[in-house]
Amino acid sequence: MPSLEDLRNILRQIDGRSYPAYKDLRGQVFQSQDSHFELCIDHVQGDPFASPSHLRIRLFHDSTKFPDWSHSCKSRRIGLENFLARAMTQSCHQLSTRAGSGKSGLLTIDAPGQEVIERTALLYFTDRIEARLSIGLPAKGRRIAGREAARMLCDQLPQLALDTLQFAQHDSELVRQAVEINEDADALRGQLKQRGLVSFIANGSILPRRSGIDQLPLDQSHATSFQSPESLSVTLDTPNQGKVTGLGIKEGITLIVGGGFHGKSTLLNAIERGVYNHRPQDGREFVITRPDAVKIRAEDGRSISGVNISPFINNLPNQSDTSHFSTENASGSTSQAANIIEALESGADALLIDEDIAATNFMIRDLRMQELIAPDKEPITPYICKVSALHQQRGVSSILVMGGSGDYFPVADTVIGMDQYLPCDLTQNAQHIVQAHQMQVVNQASTFGESTQRYPQKSSIDPRQGRREVSSKSRSTHHIQIGEHDIDLSALTQIISSSQTRAIAAAILYAHEHRLLDGQSDLPTILDLLCQTLENQLEALSCGQRGDLATFRRHELAAAFNRLRTLKIEP
Ligand code: ADP
Ligand code: MG
Repeated sequence: MPSLEDLRNILRQIDGRSYPAYKDLRGQVFQSQDSHFELCIDHVQGDPFASPSHLRIRLFHDSTKFPDWSHSCKSRRIGLENFLARAMTQSCHQLSTRAGSGKSGLLTIDAPGQEVIERTALLYFTDRIEARLSIGLPAKGRRIAGREAARMLCDQLPQLALDTLQFAQHDSELVRQAVEINEDADALRGQLKQRGLVSFIANGSILPRRSGIDQLPLDQSHATSFQSPESLSVTLDTPNQGKVTGLGIKEGITLIVGGGFHGKSTLLNAIERGVYNHRPQDGREFVITRPDAVKIRAEDGRSISGVNISPFINNLPNQSDTSHFSTENASGSTSQAANIIEALESGADALLIDEDIAATNFMIRDLRMQELIAPDKEPITPYICKVSALHQQRGVSSILVMGGSGDYFPVADTVIGMDQYLPCDLTQNAQHIVQAHQMQVVNQASTFGESTQRYPQKSSIDPRQGRREVSSKSRSTHHIQIGEHDIDLSALTQIISSSQTRAIAAAILYAHEHRLLDGQSDLPTILDLLCQTLENQLEALSCGQRGDLATFRRHELAAAFNRLRTLKIEP
């Protein structure tokens, strides 16, 4: 294998030549003299202004020396990888400079956020740790700056690996914390089902964020830390911190009520993100939700393909068939109905709904309105009529934020009141109100309704764009373009990273290339196939090279398929 000195010589030789001479480096691997370090050059940018080049740096375990406890199980390994990816993000930030034209000298890694999920940016393998970086290969004008390149590639990168990827360089307590918290979070999530819980919020958690666009915790001095009322408290075990006590949200129907601005949505948002683990100091380390809890909202304007929304919507004025409903432009209520049916199809076992972003006419219809509008003039069966059947027949729980209406009191198993950011148990008070007013849900459905299997047709994915056979792009966390078709994911707040979005785009292309949409397999079967192939091997999507992908849930993958405007489902 050529050495870093060989690379230095090559860079000296091409110094001052025109930029494409860098291209010869593509696919080459260079090794340090002691063979502890390797540099793989996977992609070389076409010019100094193009998107940066991709390389992988590897440090072998003769040199990394992370103790067994730091990677002894999958949970710990992922905690360690995220810890190191954050360290690498900082190191890259310090080294990155603008040295020359275009992107010369820039050095970045796909940085992790507050959630701890598997990512391809930094991987702990059995023989090595590998970080995948983007680098702007240095140029002066459009000519190669060879000396500068040699300094970066042959000196700075090996040093970066030694400084960041060796155990000895880190505070071992911080490493321990990162891996133990991640293991504990997984252990807590593993206990929820057998304890009959949908979500658990540990006492002392900090739920509010700095702002709507900043996921860092609100300053401790301004945040009220979470404290469960005695009657709703549960205590769970963790392998590293012993017993942890907090609010247990049980299966069934839970309402979160309280005055405006008292922290209802903040609680639901934390629950929604609790399907993922969080990094130390996030405040939500032990806010833990079942993996199949899905946030539901109204999403007018989305497209719908062949969804049986008849449990909620019937007798539309245009006579369209709601057992195989398709539209290019859904209304608030039909979109929310489709979002629920699709979530059930992908295997959701809990639905999270916030009044702030739900369609009111989908959630409730009060007696006076029922008197005014005859039942046969109203296509919508509101959620309140189905929520009990959904739990009893399908085993699907609901957590609903409802500050503006008491209509759900008769069906609620638990009512949590938020008062000055602190939860209290209002279940009995709500039941007294039900009795005092003899409240009941009119037209409560005894069955949830039929579901229909959906078979996506072969022609559902068309990745061609212009002369390119296959093209997929993702401009942001909530956007994918497959061929010429955009998928709008902005309603999917449980996609928490653009790396997940890129991975979902790659999975859709994978499904196309492997002909998984064959018209014979229903959508859950396709999701199963994809998720089985990809489990434990995000690398299958990254082709062993990409450093910009992260794991995603089958629900968000399904949601992306369902928002493909080219999706075809035969009746
Ligand atoms: P609601 O949904 O009840 O109207 P929100 O959850 O939107 O209320 O919260 C209102 C505001 O209070 C937000 O700015 C939020 O960041 C802040 N907030 C929520 N929980 C806390 C808390 N525990 N400590 C401090 N501020 C909080
Ligand atoms: Mg709110």
